Amino acid sequence: MAPGKSIAVIGAGIIGAHVALRLQADGHSVVLYDPETPGMGCSFGNGGYIATDEVVPLARPELLASVPWMLLNPGAPFTVHWPSVPGLMPWFVHFARACGSKQVARGTSVMSRLMKATPAAWAEAAKLANLGPLLKASGFLRVFESKAGLRKFQHELKVQKAHDVPVEILARAAVLKRLPGLTPAVKGGLYYPEGRHLADPHRVVERLVIAFKKRGGVFERQPVRAFTRSQTHLTAVRSAGGRQNIDAVVVAAGIASGRLLAKLGVNLPLTAERGYHVMMDGHIPGFETPFVSVERGMIITPMSIGTRFAGTVEFARSGVPPTSRRADKLLRSGRELFPKIQIREKSRWMGERPTLPDYLPAIGPLQDIKNLYVATGHQHLGVTLGAVTAKIIAGMINGEENPNWEALAPDRFG
Ligand SMILES: Cc1cc2nc3c(=O)[nH]c(=O)nc-3n(C[C@H](O)[C@H](O)[C@H](O)COP(=O)(O)OP(=O)(O)OC[C@H]3O[C@@H](n4cnc5c(N)ncnc54)[C@H](O)[C@@H]3O)c2cc1C
Repeated sequence: MAPGKSIAVIGAGIIGAHVALRLQADGHSVVLYDPETPGMGCSFGNGGYIATDEVVPLARPELLASVPWMLLNPGAPFTVHWPSVPGLMPWFVHFARACGSKQVARGTSVMSRLMKATPAAWAEAAKLANLGPLLKASGFLRVFESKAGLRKFQHELKVQKAHDVPVEILARAAVLKRLPGLTPAVKGGLYYPEGRHLADPHRVVERLVIAFKKRGGVFERQPVRAFTRSQTHLTAVRSAGGRQNIDAVVVAAGIASGRLLAKLGVNLPLTAERGYHVMMDGHIPGFETPFVSVERGMIITPMSIGTRFAGTVEFARSGVPPTSRRADKLLRSGRELFPKIQIREKSRWMGERPTLPDYLPAIGPLQDIKNLYVATGHQHLGVTLGAVTAKIIAGMINGEENPNWEALAPDRFG
């Protein structure tokens, strides 16, 4: 498809915002739809880390083995919202299938390719949207509080090294030097010198959309409700604002993408992997490098708007109310990690990560509806992969030669 097409992008989260800006910059005429102001979904409150070290998909045998523990332990970093369990069963069946060693190796290879293309894609997006100091290059740490945690990570570390992820092993003293104020109970860590993060993830989405509009893109504050189609193509999208004739559609509606695609008979088995944040009002002196506590499954990120404690996983049906003790636990953990912390809680938030059972995103066209593209399922990695997703989608729509991204095909679940 040559540039200059009329394209609807559905969803103004980090993914849709990147996609809309990229397509508009490539010379297309783009309308971006969202019922909310941009960035109010899962992209609002994440940890902000551009996690190019995460080459191994989370669908892996260790996580599968922890499912019974998750079911029994509501305080675990990975857990399940009990009333949602019956509805989650089909997802878990797909997930179990995706945890085989062949599938994990295939997933690692495609994730590694995505991660290698990510720094350049983010640099281009930062230039287009004039992100300046919103994109930080302060490195990243993975911190271990037990020797067992360190030992368990050895396999993943080997895979990271095999995929050329720059990483340094740090003894306890070196971790404490990089993270002043951290509890001396830590046992050691890994330092990722090329780690980057966002100083304010919500502001970044806003900036992407501002840049998109400056280039002539149109933001419609409406949900897309329906589509008009022929046998093989979509011809229009419909919202309360009316009908828009289109040459192509990109569905980037996060967790709502599954429901939207179901209207077209497409099965995208997304589940809501809920995560929480507690925003602290202020900064921890000398703390500049975000880190993840491996055992607690949480990230602590210094942001322009304060210090964010974020993370944990709670599988649930989309739309059920938050579980407040998950956020309580984050706050408690943050205070244990920084025992002398003086800053106070400012706000709390819960977001629904859009997650597919193989923990790979869905990026690309559908076979049966040729001009319908999907860009979702980015689970823990939407911030990381937004920019590269936009480049891949734009390359496909522009008809450029694209490397083989079959493993990400949205119709891979049948
Ligand atoms: C606690 C937590 C921490 C995280 N930390 C990180 C991190 O450090 N690094 C990282 O890479 N990722 C992280 N993530 C994951 C990341 O936040 C998500 O992968 C990402 O935000 C998903 O973006 P999205 O654009 O797909 O979805 P969303 O941000 O949810 O956007 C989807 C948009 O679609 C809109 N929409 C829905 N229906 C319609 C419709 N019918 N018409 C039009 N619009 C519609 C919604 O209103 C919404 O604005 C974290 C997530 C959580 C919860």
